[in-house]
Amino acid sequence: METTERSAARAEELFRGMGGAVQDGFPAIHSPVHHTDAGTAYLKAPGVVILTRPQTNVRGLGGFLEGFDPELRFPEYLDDPTTLPDSSQLCKTAGQLCYASFGPRRTTNENAASYFERLTSAGHGSVLEHASFSFLLYGISRSVTHELVRHRAGAGFSQISQRYVSGAVLRFVERPEYQEDEKLHRLFEGRADRAATGYEEMAERLLDLQGEGHAMLSADQKTDARKKVQQTARSLLPNETEAPMVFTGNIRALRHIIEMRADAHAESEIRGLALRLFLCLRTADPILFGDYEIGDLPDGTVTVSTKNRKA
Ligand SMILES: Cc1cc2nc3c(=O)[nH]c(=O)nc-3n(C[C@H](O)[C@H](O)[C@H](O)COP(=O)(O)OP(=O)(O)OC[C@H]3O[C@@H](n4cnc5c(N)ncnc54)[C@H](O)[C@@H]3O)c2cc1C
Repeated sequence: METTERSAARAEELFRGMGGAVQDGFPAIHSPVHHTDAGTAYLKAPGVVILTRPQTNVRGLGGFLEGFDPELRFPEYLDDPTTLPDSSQLCKTAGQLCYASFGPRRTTNENAASYFERLTSAGHGSVLEHASFSFLLYGISRSVTHELVRHRAGAGFSQISQRYVSGAVLRFVERPEYQEDEKLHRLFEGRADRAATGYEEMAERLLDLQGEGHAMLSADQKTDARKKVQQTARSLLPNETEAPMVFTGNIRALRHIIEMRADAHAESEIRGLALRLFLCLRTADPILFGDYEIGDLPDGTVTVSTKNRKA
């Protein structure tokens, strides 16, 4: 079996093994919720759901292509018998517009993978900026989101506000290392219980103070009053507090993030997230992510890498 076929089979196996499924064309890997004996909710792995993917109107090029000399045979571009994922089609069309490569000598969709290989291996990644994917991410800790938001170029984030939401949606994330050891696991559960109780007690005390007219906690509006309590109470929440977000990235940014964060040197929790992002993206578009290989580390975890880094 060739390397690419082996990687494709491994990615498929990992995606399914993690409970990955495709619903209405949108890949997702969900993460179950666990509870301590005291009822504190926590998750053991990132949940990754593709919320949006591109939809490309190639036929929309018709009126444009028909306006050129018929001898160029540009309208044939619309009759390519190979259907690509919309994200690949969008980036390929964008790239082919640059050289007006619409005639019979163009690279056809059948050869899209080698077309993108030429672009990414040369570092010409700008056409990859056209296609974006949005995700729901959950089961990720505040320390992971702090690392993820460092990626500025081509990315967008909307993260849960610890000032706005109350303890009712408070959940925690157990690191992979703690899951491996009974004692570490019990210590984690104890910490999560204490953090949840501590947060509740703190919020109650702050509310009492607010009721007594404490100057720094006072507010005219009910929402502002709640924020003032929660923004103070959150100071005791640990890094292992869950911080769900909606995350958007264009393909160029997503490739860079996967390369940085699914690397052997990346922190283990964000590596787990980057792996799931990759698996969902590869399922959605096997061409734009077809040059990646999955490697194994001695600790049983995996890496994702490509020779065409930072396109
Ligand atoms: C293993 C690892 C360890 C890390 N350790 C630390 C640490 O100890 N301390 C710490 O603070 N951070 C650390 N980081 C975070 C790291 O320094 C980056 O902030 C983060 O990975 C974002 O990547 P990026 O800089 O490529 O930015 P992105 O926003 O992902 O940008 C992509 C690319 O766009 C270009 N670009 C983006 N913004 C600009 C700009 N303003 N000017 C010019 N070019 C730009 C760059 O080429 C950049 O690589 C670590 C990251 C990793 C993966």
